[in-house]
Amino acid sequence: MLSCLCADNQASKMPRRFFVGGNWKMNGDKASIDGICEFLKQGPLDKNVDVVVGVPAVYLEYVKARLPEDVQCAAQNCYKEPKGAFTGEISPAMLKDIGVEWVILGHSERRNIFGESDELIAEKCCHALDNGMKVILCIGEMLEDREAGKTEEVVVRQLTACAKKIKEWANVVVAYEPVWAIGTGKTATPAQAQEVHAQIRNWMKEKISPDVADATRILYGGSVSADNCRELAKQHDVDGSLVGGASLKPDFVKIVNANVK
Ligand code: PEP
Repeated sequence: MLSCLCADNQASKMPRRFFVGGNWKMNGDKASIDGICEFLKQGPLDKNVDVVVGVPAVYLEYVKARLPEDVQCAAQNCYKEPKGAFTGEISPAMLKDIGVEWVILGHSERRNIFGESDELIAEKCCHALDNGMKVILCIGEMLEDREAGKTEEVVVRQLTACAKKIKEWANVVVAYEPVWAIGTGKTATPAQAQEVHAQIRNWMKEKISPDVADATRILYGGSVSADNCRELAKQHDVDGSLVGGASLKPDFVKIVNANVK
């Protein structure tokens, strides 16, 4: 029973603040990063939006020093242990040491290319949160899951693994990213996105708490562009977006400014 895992959540019924994340993935060099930081500085960016960009680890400090102060940096991954013999990994403690507060966890590329299990992602989330980080937790179904009518089952399975470990949801933003829409130019329709976002929020209400369901931002990710961002953002349970390819281009500013609620 997950109901016994309810966080002692003090979340108020404040409207959820719009949130736009950028995921640069394994792209960029100093010259192109300078260009991204420049268009973010030029903006102008809607002050009512939380903006966080996911940066390759090696550039985190470089980017942090160049971003406008209303844009925050995220790592794209971190490990479930504080330190030790884990060659190639970075810990939440290390990220905090360089002033990085956010981390993207559970991205479909981590799940599907690097074989990260629901369980490992849950452990990473738990460790990151316990160490004061804020987490963008990505979930989403593969094309074959959707075609088999298993979308809800998959996202609930991914969330359930995390809910068994996460004690407090205040620092979690969920990103629903259908894998078939990531990097393909095939966006979920606004209705498809809303349907799954509502299922996620209902699941949170039943299995975690109504307060957590009300307060948690649920982002849509998957080929979000300057052209489709506004229609997606109009959906009741869509609280922003997680943007891959378009976050490397000046169009990202338009996506940040698509807060139409
Ligand atoms: C992503 O990588 O999280 C993503 C949504 O990518 P894209 O916007 O390119 O589909």
